[in-house]
Amino acid sequence: MSLRRVLIFFSDTGGGHRAAANALTEAFQFQFPGRYKVTLVDGFKDCAPFPLNQISETYFPLTTYTPKLWGGLFHSSNRQLTLPSSAAMDDALLRRGCARAIRRHNPTLVVSVHPLINRAPCNALKQINPYIPFVTVVTDLFDVHGMWFSAAADLVIVPTQGAFDCGVSWGFPPERMRVVGQPIALKFAAPASSETQAELRARLGLQPDRFTLLLVGGGEGMGPLRAIARALNTAALPIQLAIIAGRNEKLRAQLRQEHWRVPVSIQGFVTDMPDWMRASDVVITKAGPGTIMETLAAGKPMILSGNLPGQEEGNVTFVEQNGVGILRANPDAIVRLVREWLEPNNHALAQMQTNARRMARPNAAIEIVKLLDALPLATTP
Ligand code: UDP
Repeated sequence: MSLRRVLIFFSDTGGGHRAAANALTEAFQFQFPGRYKVTLVDGFKDCAPFPLNQISETYFPLTTYTPKLWGGLFHSSNRQLTLPSSAAMDDALLRRGCARAIRRHNPTLVVSVHPLINRAPCNALKQINPYIPFVTVVTDLFDVHGMWFSAAADLVIVPTQGAFDCGVSWGFPPERMRVVGQPIALKFAAPASSETQAELRARLGLQPDRFTLLLVGGGEGMGPLRAIARALNTAALPIQLAIIAGRNEKLRAQLRQEHWRVPVSIQGFVTDMPDWMRASDVVITKAGPGTIMETLAAGKPMILSGNLPGQEEGNVTFVEQNGVGILRANPDAIVRLVREWLEPNNHALAQMQTNARRMARPNAAIEIVKLLDALPLATTP
């Protein structure tokens, strides 16, 4: 059987799109060893003209220092009236570069895990060979942006019923959508080892028996992680902190300067997130979709410390409506909530753990690649 070539369009705007692309790659290799060659293309970096090709570098300052502008762009482009012109502009800027990438890699299947690198590769592909399937894997949880639903896509895979309903309201045919889940690393599925949580904590350099809060802010270490850590540090609670600063080197250096009264582990970008989540009791994070679905797969309750305006607002709704976490945007409010949860006979955490296990889709990546594998192979146009 000849090798099937999959091209996945993503971008390093945050860490979630690359994480989803990596999870699909891993799932292809696990489920169909030797059958697939998967290539990842950063659609902005490799296909967009200047200055759009610099967007990965500007994503952190844009979303951190001008969140209102970011939210404004999201909402103003996400209306029935404005979406077509936003989509046309996006297509005009990216299509030629995407076509180049498609010709270079000659794929048998094209996948997008990014809302803004979606219509352009889809339209480019359908011009080159309309028989090669184009699939979108949506990586936002609820109230997702209309840009995800490219009319010419053969299949759109969504993580939740809320995202499915959103697609329907944008006029995308329901028969070409499937609710499966968010692709996350296979290591989030049932743990292979019999290591206990205490052993796992010891291996990670944490205290084995202390209530553990994991603080994380997406791949870029975004949000008020330092303020939250400081508030928890002075709260005189019987806790320890594991703080993951991601690629935010400045934050990591600042955290190392702090005077810590509670045990703390400060990490940069980690590649073993499933372990860090399993080692914790509660995850404190911004409302990033990847981290939320990973936290559910690890069976942990979460405190959302905030959300990016626009794209992450629906994720907060998803978490709160399903009883798996609570939004507390203020560090002191986070401390109050943790204090409440630690009181004897407080059953909130246990209830949220049960809900998290119910909502988790740890095998989503495998389910998705099975669907992709079943798509008809392209014929010559
Ligand atoms: N992540 C990671 N190592 C880190 C920090 C984050 O692997 O040190 C991963 C995290 O597990 C998740 C992704 O980066 O898969 C972040 O995605 P999310 O959608 O939560 O937020 P984004 O960074 O896209 O805003």
